[in-house]
Amino acid sequence: MHKYVYLFSEGNGSMRELLGGKGANLAEMTNLGMPVPQGFTISTEACTKYYEDDRNINDEIKAQVYEALARIEKINGKKFGDAKNPLLVSVRSGARASMPGMMDTILNLGLNDEVAAGLIAGNPTPAFTRFVYDSYRRFIQMFSDVVMELSKKTFEVIIDEVKAAKGVKNDIDLDADDMKKLVDLFKAHYKEEKGEDFPTDPAVQLMEAIKAVFRSWDNPRANVYRRMNDIPYSWGTAVNVQPMVFGNLNDKSGTGVAFTRDPATGEKALFGEYLINAQGEDVVAGIRTPSKISKLHEEMPAVYDQFVDIATRLENHYRDMQDMEFTIENGKLYMLQTRNGKRTAAAALKIACDLVDEGMISREEAVMRVEPKQLDSLLHPQFDAAALKAAEVVGKGLAASPGAACGRVVFSAEDAKSWAANGEKVVLVRLETSPEDIEGMAAAQGILTVRGGMTSHAAVVARGMGTCCVSGCGEITMHEEEKYFTLAGKDYHEGDWISIDGSTGNIYGCAVKTVEATISGNFDRFMKWADSFRVLRVRTNADNPRDTAQAVKFGAEGIGLCRTEHMFFEATRIKAMREMIVAKTVEARKEALAKILPYQQGDFEAMYRELKGRPMTIRFLDPPLHEFLPTKEEDIAEIAEELHVSVAELKDVIASLHEFNPMMGHRGCRLAVTYPCIAEMQTTAVINAAIKVNKEFSWYRIEPEIMIPLVGEVKELKFVKDVVTATADRLIEEAGVEMKYTVGTMIEIPRAALTADEIATEAEFFSFGTNDLTQMTFGFSRDDAGKFLDSYYDHKIYESDPFAHLDQKGVGKLVKMAAEMGRATRPHIKLGICGEHGGDPASVEFCHNVGLNYVSCSPFRVPIARLAAAQAAIREQRQ
Ligand code: ADP
Ligand code: MG
Ligand code: MG
Repeated sequence: MHKYVYLFSEGNGSMRELLGGKGANLAEMTNLGMPVPQGFTISTEACTKYYEDDRNINDEIKAQVYEALARIEKINGKKFGDAKNPLLVSVRSGARASMPGMMDTILNLGLNDEVAAGLIAGNPTPAFTRFVYDSYRRFIQMFSDVVMELSKKTFEVIIDEVKAAKGVKNDIDLDADDMKKLVDLFKAHYKEEKGEDFPTDPAVQLMEAIKAVFRSWDNPRANVYRRMNDIPYSWGTAVNVQPMVFGNLNDKSGTGVAFTRDPATGEKALFGEYLINAQGEDVVAGIRTPSKISKLHEEMPAVYDQFVDIATRLENHYRDMQDMEFTIENGKLYMLQTRNGKRTAAAALKIACDLVDEGMISREEAVMRVEPKQLDSLLHPQFDAAALKAAEVVGKGLAASPGAACGRVVFSAEDAKSWAANGEKVVLVRLETSPEDIEGMAAAQGILTVRGGMTSHAAVVARGMGTCCVSGCGEITMHEEEKYFTLAGKDYHEGDWISIDGSTGNIYGCAVKTVEATISGNFDRFMKWADSFRVLRVRTNADNPRDTAQAVKFGAEGIGLCRTEHMFFEATRIKAMREMIVAKTVEARKEALAKILPYQQGDFEAMYRELKGRPMTIRFLDPPLHEFLPTKEEDIAEIAEELHVSVAELKDVIASLHEFNPMMGHRGCRLAVTYPCIAEMQTTAVINAAIKVNKEFSWYRIEPEIMIPLVGEVKELKFVKDVVTATADRLIEEAGVEMKYTVGTMIEIPRAALTADEIATEAEFFSFGTNDLTQMTFGFSRDDAGKFLDSYYDHKIYESDPFAHLDQKGVGKLVKMAAEMGRATRPHIKLGICGEHGGDPASVEFCHNVGLNYVSCSPFRVPIARLAAAQAAIREQRQ
């Protein structure tokens, strides 16, 4: 017999893979002797089994559930389904990695008319009767929503009607009779929608609820969240069944959430909210405004002291900031959840540094504690201080997730997505957000909500994504349907500019200028620790002095990819480039190239100066030439005139350059093979720039690295390399200087990877161009794959975009093999990667493991890659 079900007393904190995060921590708190209602966890293996068995819970698992249920009935002295002394339970999902708001919880399960009547018979006061029916109506609502996909909102409408009929505003103003009426209305609504009665048998309720949790692992929201956060589908979720404790019992009861440190700033202080006479998600749903946890100190001092003591013990035990959920039933405290709390990047760094200073963790552990991707939010613009001072604050909400956002107002997640897809910066303004909004939230610069506290859905998810969020701005009058809102007497319509400050909660009714971020304070200290563990070097992809300077500030150790084609698109340069393309003779072509030379050399000089002696790999011209020619009729006429050729002639040239498959066409080193003078010109620009800057700053000792793209055959590399060396050697000799330079290649065509041993006889370095290598290995174009990859995700054929995460199985095998073959031919060959993957943490780890020398990524991902490389090195050491 395989064990699928564990009592909390049978598990512990290290069993997260089997019991999920929530279940493992409930077990751990149980072991620590904390007040946890004693229930059981159905393992993630049961979830996997459920899917293997065609979405069925088999008899073995069912039997174990009933057995566990019998055991917790004994422990709790109550009986499931019993009318006199009933056990009510919550059914809670809990995956290995926390997925906030993704899976739903059902509370008060086990209620039906008989059980309700039985409970009331034992304590027939109006207050208790109200409590029973309040719990019952909540149960119907949650069960219908989670199990039967009958939206919670349709029940809210009924509540609103009952409140309106009575002339009251708050749920708390509804009495026992109203609650009973709600139960009847809810059941009728259920029957009308579902065509059958609400299930009364508690055993059926329980099994259906467990199934629903398993099912929710595969719902579209969960799938999107997993893809965004690299959580494998195969993990599955566990289910926790736990006896209910009631925060909605009376005014000596309540429910709340708290963090041991401020999740926005990292400040060491208990931080949280609670609501008296409330249940479950009332706190985060924004139904009533919760009280600050410090107020509990006045309201229930003993409970508060006990809670502070537990919180401190939990933090010391886990040696990390804890996010806890608790309920007070009739003056007695119960712990319902603890986990390492989600936090903003700034808080993550402060907490990591503080924990080191407090002697709780080592530097190495601190480096492992911060999610590389999270740093992203610190690297993006902040408001310009002067512009911010000048701007008028038109409203204020809660500072829910820090950062600065400036964008145009949109009112729905769909609009946020479509505006962002058109290159617009948007701020998503909502009454409140819900899990369906997740993609729209990811597409927005910032999120502004009318309702909801610091632990509302919007706040939690925004902090997780590193997106700026201001929540709970009640001053806003919202007209979501009509797409406008009113604030401080002014209407804001879709498309209007606003700015929000997630660090202060301030709202500005205009666009406020933003400035670049810098690395200082905790960030700087932390990154230095990371660098001390790192083996892999981190370079950047940059092709202008501004990006170079930015990357150097972020810690880049050089440029791994300088694309030279971008330098040709400026008006004066593109003209010369076009002259070169339409030239009919070699002389005319050389003449045109000679015009480009000074620009190109100037660019390289400026970048060498910014690099201050750090190395730079310069890639020669790569794209197909047609990209430099016009496509529109009116442009063709104008440009023909400019180039002194006839329209017909220019059209002929354009037609002759047309390719069915330009990505596999006349590009890369193929250009240099047909037009060696392009390689000559580029070599001249690089070598002369290096000689010149070396003269200005002798200690830089620049050694140019020239990279030939799109090589698939050693002889073609040799052909181009000969052109380069002939030119370079001559220039160096003419200048009378001593300067070394190297010539290497990109490995981006599968054939190059397969023949890397031969290619290494000529190439002095390899740089894996994993964008093209992925494209050519999969045989689909990165520009078109988006159209069909979604179906691949839906069918779980691929779990993530191979252009975002290196496909380690296929493309990675080519990289590994080519690295080994390259080293066999040339032991000290330098190996790097310069695709977009260079800034993706999982791909960086792969690069570390196959022993590359460096990764190169866009400037804003340099700190992310530095941290990912440090973590890869630490992880390898620990194995
Ligand atoms: P989530 O993963 O979305 O946080 P939870 O399973 O933690 O969902 O449940 C949400 C809330 O429901 C909890 O914070 C708690 O307030 C309430 N809850 C869950 N189980 C119980 C229980 N056994 N007794 C009382 N309240 C519960
Ligand atoms: Mg939930
Ligand atoms: Mg929870």
